[in-house]
Amino acid sequence: MNQMSEDEKDAQSEVIRLEHELKKTCLQLEDIVREKALYKDISDAEGLPDLLDALGRQIGTVKGVDGYMINLIDPEQKTLVCEKVCLPDEYKGIEKTFLKLRFSLIFERDDPNVISFNKKEKVVINIHEDNNLSKFELKGYKRWKIFSLAVIPIFYQDQEAVGTVLVYSQKENISESMVGLVDLCLNYFCRQLGKTMRVNELVRMEQSLKKALKEQKKFLEFIEGVSSLIKVDEVYQVFMSEMLRRYGFEMASVFMKQDDQLVLQKCLASDLKYLDTVKGMDEYFSKVNYDINAFDGATATAFCQKTHILISDVMQVLHLPMSKKDKAGLAVFKTPRTFLLSPISQRDNVVGVLSLISLSEVIDVKEDDVAVIKLLCRFLGASIANAKTYETVEVQKDEIGILNKSLEQKVIELNELATKDRLTELYNFGYFQEELQRRIEEYKRCAGENYLGLVICDIDHFKNFNDTYGHIAGNIALKEVSNRVAKSARDMDIVCRYGGEEFVVILPKCNVEGAQIVAERMRSIIMAEPIEIEGDAITVTISLGCAGYQPEEAMAHFIQRADAALYKAKKSGRNRVEVADE
Ligand code: GH3
Ligand code: MG
Ligand code: MG
Repeated sequence: MNQMSEDEKDAQSEVIRLEHELKKTCLQLEDIVREKALYKDISDAEGLPDLLDALGRQIGTVKGVDGYMINLIDPEQKTLVCEKVCLPDEYKGIEKTFLKLRFSLIFERDDPNVISFNKKEKVVINIHEDNNLSKFELKGYKRWKIFSLAVIPIFYQDQEAVGTVLVYSQKENISESMVGLVDLCLNYFCRQLGKTMRVNELVRMEQSLKKALKEQKKFLEFIEGVSSLIKVDEVYQVFMSEMLRRYGFEMASVFMKQDDQLVLQKCLASDLKYLDTVKGMDEYFSKVNYDINAFDGATATAFCQKTHILISDVMQVLHLPMSKKDKAGLAVFKTPRTFLLSPISQRDNVVGVLSLISLSEVIDVKEDDVAVIKLLCRFLGASIANAKTYETVEVQKDEIGILNKSLEQKVIELNELATKDRLTELYNFGYFQEELQRRIEEYKRCAGENYLGLVICDIDHFKNFNDTYGHIAGNIALKEVSNRVAKSARDMDIVCRYGGEEFVVILPKCNVEGAQIVAERMRSIIMAEPIEIEGDAITVTISLGCAGYQPEEAMAHFIQRADAALYKAKKSGRNRVEVADE
């Protein structure tokens, strides 16, 4: 036998030590590689499902674990929700049914997941050693072939629990070291898990806020839109469409109080496929109105009691006794489901009822929804009143317009009456005076560049005419003379009856020579053709005096000069024109 030398011995022990060291280093390396892979897994994970897959893979590597479940707290902090589950092969088929399974923190206080979460402690249950288990629980665990289970809370920061991991074994008790290993896995994941959950929650909040913002904007637009409507029918249309869109009802109707009944004003459906139902409603309620009597039907009840009525599913109550009108009305809907009636009010008076009904399915109308609908019905009442006032004002405006026109006509007629002579239809003496004064003012404004003429005429021997042919014939002759005088004047001249059988003509922009020409034309036109009186042709003549306005001359003086010229014409033998002295 070879005796080992001391040196050899030393060398051998050194080899053993080195081998040992190598093994240790290898193990360390393995650990590091594993840890590196783990971190890579964690950092590569995109979103929560990825991260849970990675965590699941890690838990699956713990020896003795046959199945696990990862549960996370929901954003409202009320339930743990199963987000990941892994069962042994024989249960693989039903694995999915566990996904999204919820454990209420309030109502399932005995569940190990809930206990662990609430107490922030690990919970271990070894089925065959635990005397606290109820028969029911024991049976359940046995059915699932669970021998032992452990629940480990998942912490995020500052001991804030965000979920639990349940692991179980079918063959052995879950040992402390197994729990320790799972806990170790969680240590790696918890930070990222917490962060991802928080991000998910923020994304969800952002989305719901964006949606709410959009809804609110739409709502504001709708409110503004309805308030600016000026036709009652449009108010109904826009309001009802929004109600259908917002709450998912399929039919909307508005009944308004008219005299002592509730009368259907408008019926609207969310889809063209309900057109026949709309027609049916219109047809039935064109013949039938609700009496203002709570027993006449639900619509009338809502009106009389000033209250909303919500029937979650009409199909369930169809067999109950109801008014004839309600029975017939509901028959039109064929499949009436959720039915909501809300009174429409103006200030504190109920003026109508809004009826909303779903036809395809039951609608979950929340208390908040009812409160908003009630409020909107007050707003609807105000909008209807506004539009009605506007419509009335418009009608009144039209009527006022017509009245104004006839008033204007009356003013014109009155004016004519006040300024014209009835027999000759020429301007009267009053008008003549005013007009001459105006013309003199006008003349003064542009003195030196303007002229103003005046002609006064008087029928010759008219007293004789009257005496011979009578007063009526005299009137006819007077009218004929006035016509001819007016015809021989220019458009701008103002022909007036001065009194009795005398006329006066104001001639703007006309000097005395011009006035003389006009006067001469008048004289000859009267004399030229006899006037026919009761078959007799009688020649009538006139005498005329004319004058031109002189600067600074008083109106009375001007008239008086023309009159003097007329007097001169009479004196000189009548049927002639004389010009006034300057
Ligand atoms: P002279 O040529 O001087 O003007 O004679 P004359 O008869 O026309 O004058 P006088 O002033 O004496 O009479 C005017 C007459 O005119 C008197 C009146 O009967 C008549 N006369 C005045 N106004 C009317 C009227 O509206 N209708 C009728 N038919 N006659 C009237
Ligand atoms: Mg006279
Ligand atoms: Mg006369």
